[in-house]
Amino acid sequence: MKKQIILGTLAMCMIIAWSLATLDSPAQRSEARRPGEAFQPADFGKLIGMEGFSNTLLQNHFKLYQGYVKNSNLLDEKLNTMLRDGKTDTPEYAELKRRFGFEFNGMRLHELYFGNLGEKKELDPASPLYAALSRNFGSYAQWKKDFMATGTMRGIGWVILYLDPLSGRLFNEWVNEHEVNHLAGCTPLLVMDVFEHAYMTDYQLDRPRYVEAFFKNINWDAVSKRFP
Ligand code: FE
Repeated sequence: MKKQIILGTLAMCMIIAWSLATLDSPAQRSEARRPGEAFQPADFGKLIGMEGFSNTLLQNHFKLYQGYVKNSNLLDEKLNTMLRDGKTDTPEYAELKRRFGFEFNGMRLHELYFGNLGEKKELDPASPLYAALSRNFGSYAQWKKDFMATGTMRGIGWVILYLDPLSGRLFNEWVNEHEVNHLAGCTPLLVMDVFEHAYMTDYQLDRPRYVEAFFKNINWDAVSKRFP
């Protein structure tokens, strides 16, 4: 009897250990998200202390990002409910559908932006990305000039260094707000936020100084990983 209890307890422990070992980490879960599963905000706290970015600015920016995650989940849920309830033929559905692109892109672009910050190394001149920038723009310096010029254009939105996988060409693209002017089928490599909340706290209207500070903190390893 005692032996049976011991064997039973052992078997139970093994089952629990196996269940824990097969649980996905949060990162794995976000990579393989199932339909209906909520988006989870990523933690970019490691950026606190980054030179040229005050804690207040970064903390507020993280809060704004978390709002996009929350609203993407909210809209996803509402749209699914309306689909289930047969309410797709309504102006409300159409407006929420349009709004989803704003919130979802707001979420993803912030993840790309924070994800390509936090290092202080220059891009390696021997790297394939450096070679591609030089080939596409004539030189690395010319690419940087174009990226910075795009970043100081009037308006609010994003500057994205895009790779077109079909042609192999690279573009510095201006995106209005979060959802207007994306290049279809292209891969975002380097993403810079130029909404006023990204710099006003620290630089007021001096956007060129913010763009310089952004450039000094680019995580080129992260950017290079996005370049196939
Ligand atoms: Fe932002």
